[in-house]
Amino acid sequence: QSSGAGAPGSGATIFALSSGQGRCGIAVIRTSGPASGHALRSLTAPRELPRARSASLRLLTDPRSGEPLDRALVLWFPGPHSFTGEDCAEFHVHGGPAVVSGVLQALGRVPGLRPAEAGEFTRRAFAHGKLSLTEVEGLADLIHAETEAQRRQALRQLDGELGQLCRGWAETLTKALAHVEAYIDFGEDDNLEEGVLEQADSQVRELAVALDTHLRDARRGQRLRSGAHVVVTGPPNAGKSSLVNLLSRKPVSIVSPEPGTTRDVLETPVDLAGFPALLSDTAGLREGQGPVEQEGVRRARESCDFLDTVVTPAIARSPNGNGQRLLLVLNKSDLLPPGGPDLSPELPPHLLLSCLTGAGLDGLLEALRKELAAVCGNPSTGPPLLTRARHQHHLQACLDALGSYRHAPDVALAAEALRVARGHLARLHGGGGTEEVLDIIFRDFCVGK
Ligand code: GDP
Ligand code: ZN
Repeated sequence: QSSGAGAPGSGATIFALSSGQGRCGIAVIRTSGPASGHALRSLTAPRELPRARSASLRLLTDPRSGEPLDRALVLWFPGPHSFTGEDCAEFHVHGGPAVVSGVLQALGRVPGLRPAEAGEFTRRAFAHGKLSLTEVEGLADLIHAETEAQRRQALRQLDGELGQLCRGWAETLTKALAHVEAYIDFGEDDNLEEGVLEQADSQVRELAVALDTHLRDARRGQRLRSGAHVVVTGPPNAGKSSLVNLLSRKPVSIVSPEPGTTRDVLETPVDLAGFPALLSDTAGLREGQGPVEQEGVRRARESCDFLDTVVTPAIARSPNGNGQRLLLVLNKSDLLPPGGPDLSPELPPHLLLSCLTGAGLDGLLEALRKELAAVCGNPSTGPPLLTRARHQHHLQACLDALGSYRHAPDVALAAEALRVARGHLARLHGGGGTEEVLDIIFRDFCVGK
């Protein structure tokens, strides 16, 4: 097996280091599977299982040589009340690499145990119904969350909000389908309540509106997951590279007093006021430069699809008008004469900044926070966001099926359209996940999760 977690149910007991690699105070090693209790007893003295779900201090020894490995806290989680739903054990050992590798080697010698593959713990949790597919995705995102906004969104998905929403929609569909099927079975029968088809129609109409709203929101969710594009543009020497360095708190672009030094679009993932952003520094937007500069300008304009920050000590021309936001920043404010800026009154709203002194940085960050909140959405208050193309795909397919329902030439085809729509919702939240989808999702996990 090369990548991703193997299919569960093989009966094997898996083990892995679940905390981070490298030197640390405490390292957590986990096992999951039927031999977990046996592994725990083989490595610990006294050789009996500790009380379920409470920490006990034990001496860990190598089962073969009897060699002491560590004094460690151990925990015993008998299934099904564990993360994976199987018998699980945890060893909270001292974090030194020799201790960790000693315990891992000892576990590897226990019969029935093998090292876990990436995401295998979570895959088992999914297989035992402990987590839905959307929750698994939330967990993956939580592990990788680097900004506050990402963490909030991931936690909401892990809490099952997207799944609940899907279940609610699926219920509506089931009701509509029941009405249509009743009509098929009984037709204009007197025993059937009036207007069953009309009821189904209005349920489907309402559902379509809800799906449409969430689909419109989908780009915000994906942007929050992967970062909004923030582009710093402006004439050569305006201080674009200096601003990128200031915002990313590390030197990524070459700052040079010579105009036209930065020729390429360099994207740096940064945390801007709690939001993930891909910050890029571009070549100056001055016309009539050499081919290398012009290529830089072209790429700058292409990557300006969401948000644009123009840094310039002179007047800025908006690079284009296809929906991106523009923040006009006047850099080098330290060079302005004391006693107040002498700027043209025709200047559009702008912020003053000095990359040299840092004056105006707080104001710029606050302005960026507002812009990013608008393009990413606010994950702690808005509706649960669709964070992946997969979500968007199934929701769109569901909506399309609702369209076929409305245009169906007869009730049998209308009922079929509703079944197709329901199938897409089920796949979205993991009712009928194919192995292929699972492989893609679990690839995001690391070993030990
Ligand atoms: P870019 O061509 O737009 O990327 O500009 P750079 O960031 O390379 O900066 C060009 C020059 O302006 C460098 O010599 C910087 O040190 C200088 N510079 C950048 N920001 C400021 C500022 O706020 N004040 C002053 N006085 N100089 C700055
Ligand atoms: Zn530059």
